[in-house]
Amino acid sequence: MFIEKIRHVITEKCAFLIFFMTSLATIVRPLLIQQDVLFTYVGIVNSVAMGSVFFYLKYTTPKSWHPLLFVNVGILVLAPITFVSGGINSQFAYLFPIIPIFIALVSNAKYTWLTGLTVITVVIGLFLSVGVFPDYTFENVPQAKTKSRAVWLCLAVLMATKLGVEFNRIYGALGDQISKQAETDLLTGLNNRRSVMSFVQTAIDQAKQENSAMSVMMIDLDHFKTINDSHGHLAGDLCLKQVAQLIKQNVRNNSDLAGRFGGEEFIVVIKDIDKQTAHDIANNIRLSIEQASINLNNNLKLKVTATIGICVLKGEQLSSVEHCVDLADKALYQGKKEGRNRIVMS
Ligand code: GH3
Ligand code: MG
Ligand code: MG
Repeated sequence: MFIEKIRHVITEKCAFLIFFMTSLATIVRPLLIQQDVLFTYVGIVNSVAMGSVFFYLKYTTPKSWHPLLFVNVGILVLAPITFVSGGINSQFAYLFPIIPIFIALVSNAKYTWLTGLTVITVVIGLFLSVGVFPDYTFENVPQAKTKSRAVWLCLAVLMATKLGVEFNRIYGALGDQISKQAETDLLTGLNNRRSVMSFVQTAIDQAKQENSAMSVMMIDLDHFKTINDSHGHLAGDLCLKQVAQLIKQNVRNNSDLAGRFGGEEFIVVIKDIDKQTAHDIANNIRLSIEQASINLNNNLKLKVTATIGICVLKGEQLSSVEHCVDLADKALYQGKKEGRNRIVMS
């Protein structure tokens, strides 16, 4: 999501840049050089096209196909003006190496390579078709210069493509790392509260759509403060890490989610489940915590228990994320009141 937003901003800025450049060129060029009026018309059409794309991108929410729209319109803008101004010898051919760079900014390595190779094919095609399209700049370019221009243009596009692909690699890895960090609890490696809350929303939506039930479990360690008080905070942290792993082992990796809600409270979200199975899973978690010997670095073993509040909701009951979590929380505190190390169903 984060990366999508960055892509949207880059796409929007690129679209504005092309809009600005084409408009500027359309206005300024006739003042500097004598040119066919055709270029002014093409320039106006191009400015309107890129301007529309820019304002469309600016005032709509991020959508995954925005980059594609931008790129296609960008290429449509560049193509006709290149054809009518001498093809390979056109001054607009200088802009070709920017195309794979733009693609790299808004998409991935695969599309960057594909675009780079397409642009090189276009350069070769333009070289082979010199004289086929009318050149409205009426410039006389020697054949030798055309050949050398084609070679250097191909090399420039290739270099730009490779640069773009490198950018995709680094940017992709960085994006993955940022997204992962933003979703992960530093101490336990489980999902953090924010990502669990958004997962609860997804689970609610899915349950409504499929008319299935979903479950939220709040797990709170019993008398955890005494562990901190008697063994220190580092020992408490070690305990939290090991309990987190025990909880994780009891949920399905692909469809369910275990997270740290905060402090010594954990949360488990399970999709498509009935009350009995939810209770069984909670009991497995409770038992595995109770039976585990928590290893504190100095060969000390520790026992810990947990109280679990569960809610299993379906249909009309699935009102909001806060409501689901609150029900599980209330059940949890009921369990604490009743004596701890137990499961209470909302
Ligand atoms: P109860 O059975 O009622 O839940 O008792 P408790 O002692 O577990 O509950 P309480 O909420 O009073 O204490 C929670 C403690 O958890 C207090 C706090 O010091 C400790 N704690 C919260 N976050 C962390 C953490 O990241 N590391 C460590 N070591 N301790 C933490
Ligand atoms: Mg506690
Ligand atoms: Mg607590």
